[in-house]
Amino acid sequence: MQKHLSLRSYLLLSFWILLILSMLLPTWYYYRNLTQQAMNDAREAAVRQLNLFHALILNDSNIRSVADLQTWFEKTAKPAQLRLTYVAAGGRVIADSEVPASSIRDLDNHASRPEIMQARTEDVGITIRYSRVSRQDQIFVARRIQPNDPIPPGILRLAGPISPLKGLLDRLWNSFLIVTALIFLASVVLSYALIRQLRLPIGNLVEVVEALGTGDYGRRSRLSPGHEFFPLAQAINRTGENFGKKISEISEEKQQLEAVFDGMQEGVMVLDSRGKIRTINRALSELIATASNSVGKRPLEVIMSLELQEACDLILSSSSTAVSKPYNLQIVLGGNRTYDVTLVGFPERKRGMGAIAVFHDISELKRLETVRQDFVANVSHELRTPLTSIKGYTETLLAEKQPDPQMLSSFLQVIAKNTNHMVSMVDDLLRLARLESRHQSFKPAPVDPADAITAAWKACAPLAESKNIVLKSDIAPHTLHVSADYDQLVQVFRNLLENGIKYSTSDDELIVSCRIEGNRATFGIRDNGPGIPKQHQHRIFERFYRVEKHRSTHPGSTGLGLAICRHIIRNHGGRIWVESPNPEEDKGCTFFFTMFLARKDAEQEAERVTDAVDMV
Ligand code: ADP
Repeated sequence: MQKHLSLRSYLLLSFWILLILSMLLPTWYYYRNLTQQAMNDAREAAVRQLNLFHALILNDSNIRSVADLQTWFEKTAKPAQLRLTYVAAGGRVIADSEVPASSIRDLDNHASRPEIMQARTEDVGITIRYSRVSRQDQIFVARRIQPNDPIPPGILRLAGPISPLKGLLDRLWNSFLIVTALIFLASVVLSYALIRQLRLPIGNLVEVVEALGTGDYGRRSRLSPGHEFFPLAQAINRTGENFGKKISEISEEKQQLEAVFDGMQEGVMVLDSRGKIRTINRALSELIATASNSVGKRPLEVIMSLELQEACDLILSSSSTAVSKPYNLQIVLGGNRTYDVTLVGFPERKRGMGAIAVFHDISELKRLETVRQDFVANVSHELRTPLTSIKGYTETLLAEKQPDPQMLSSFLQVIAKNTNHMVSMVDDLLRLARLESRHQSFKPAPVDPADAITAAWKACAPLAESKNIVLKSDIAPHTLHVSADYDQLVQVFRNLLENGIKYSTSDDELIVSCRIEGNRATFGIRDNGPGIPKQHQHRIFERFYRVEKHRSTHPGSTGLGLAICRHIIRNHGGRIWVESPNPEEDKGCTFFFTMFLARKDAEQEAERVTDAVDMV
C-alpha cells in the first residue's frame, strides 16, 4: 500500500534539506577554491625548489660520483624535510635522501612513477599521491638532469609535503562537517519538540470537531485566550453551539411533526421517488400486519391492492415539477374496513420524496349508507304487506254491489288490523327518528322503576292475559330511584315485557330483577321463550332485524322495539344487551340494561358500600 508522507513530514524534510544545503554549499565552495589555490601554490613552490636543487647540483664541483650525490642529498634535503631522489635512465634509483646508500639497490624501479614518466616527455612532471616511504600524501616534482661524468644523466625528483594550508583546510572541513551534523541533530530534536507542542492543541481541536461530527454538541475546546489557536477554538466552539441549537430546534420540530403524524386518525404512507415506502404512521401500521418491516418495500408488498400500486405508479410517473392532481381510490383493509385513499405526488422529487397516500376510514359512512338504503328498503317492504292487504280487501269490497254483512265486517276488521299495524309502525318509526335526532328533549328525574314496571305491565295486560303469563318482580316500590325520563323508561320496560310475552309459551312467567353496582342499577327481564341464538344477539338491536325471517310468525311485530330501547338507554348513558340461553337452561333469554341511580340513591349506596367495607 502506498503510504503518503504527511504535510508535516514534507515541511520538516524540506527544512532539513535546506538547512544542510545552506550550511554545506558555501563552505564547500570556499574549501574547494582555497584548496585549489593552496595546491597551485604548493606546485609552484615545489617546482621552484626542484629548479634550485637542479642548479645547485650542476654547479657543485664537489659532486663527482654517485656516492657524493647521495651524501649531498642527505645533507641538503633532509634538514629541509624534503626528499630528493635521483632516478637513472631505465628507472633505477641511484641516490635518495631518505634511503641509506646500502638500501638504494632494494628500491623498486621508478620508471613507471607518473611524475618520472611525465618528466621524460615534458619539462617537468608533477603528481600528488600517497607516498609509501613517508606514509602520507606528498607532492612529487621531477625534471631531467645531466650532470658531469661519472654521474649518468637521469631524472631528479623532489618530494615534499603538500602545503600546510591544505592540511589546515582539511581539518577545518572535517570539523565543519561534525558541527553541521550536530546542528542537524539539534534541529531534528528541536522540531520534534515543537511539533509535539503544536500537536496537543491541534489534537484537542480535532477531538472536539470529531465529537461534533458524532452528535456530541456539548463538547467544547478549552484552549485559553492568548494561545495561537484560540481564535480557531472559539470558532469551533461557536459552530458547536449553533449546531446544538439548530439540531435541538430541528429535532423539536421533528418530534412535533412525528407526534402529529402518529396522532393522526388517518393512515399516512410516504413514498420515495422510486416508489418505495419511506415511512408510515401509527394509524396505518395498526392496520397492516407486516408494518414493522414495511420501510423500503413497494406498497403492493404490504397492502394487497393492485389498484393502490397502480395509482402510486401513475402518480410517480407523472410530471415531477408541479404538484400533481390528487388521485382518489377506495380499498378494503383489515378485513372489512373501507378506506378512501388520496394520493398526491410531491412537487420536488429530487429530494427523494415521491408521493404521500392518506387513508381515510369511511367504513362508518359506508355502513350508514347501507343502513339508509336498508332502511328505505325495509320501510317500503314493511308497509307494502299491510298496504297490499288493505288494497286487496278494499277493492274486493268495492267490487261487491251488495256485500254480505258478515263478510263486510270481517274484511273491515282485517283492514283495521293492518291499518293499526301501519299506524303502530309509523309511530315506532317517528319515535325512533326523534330519539336518533335527539330532538325529543327529556329531563331526567328520580324515577321509581317499580312504578315504571307497573305502568308498562298495565299496557301489556291484554296480551299477557290472553296467554296467561304472569310477572314476577323483585323490585319493591320506593326502594330505589333511577335518573330517567319516566315515559321513556316505561317504553323500554314495555317493549321488553311485550317481547317476553310474545316469545313465551302460554302459562309462563316473566321475571324482572335489579342489581346495584356503584352508581348504576342493572335491570334484567327474563323469559323462558326459545331464546336468541348467539349469532343474532348483537344484531337484534338494529332496526327491522328479526331472528325469524317470516313476519307472519309474530304478526304485529315491527322489528323496531329493541332499536327504540337501545336509543333510549344510550341517551340515558346506559347499555343494553341480551344473554341467552339463561344460566343452567338451554332456552330463554334475559335482556339487561343499565341506568344511573338518582343522586340521592347513589350517595346512599356509596355510604352503604363504605360501611360494609368498614365492617369487614
Ligand atoms: P319485534 O317487533 O319484531 O319484536 P324487536 O326489535 O322488539 O322487534 O325484536 C327484534 C327481534 O329480536 C325479534 O324479531 C325477535 O326475533 C328477537 N327477540 C326479541 N325479544 C325476544 C325474546 N324475548 N325472545 C326471543 N326472541 C326475541
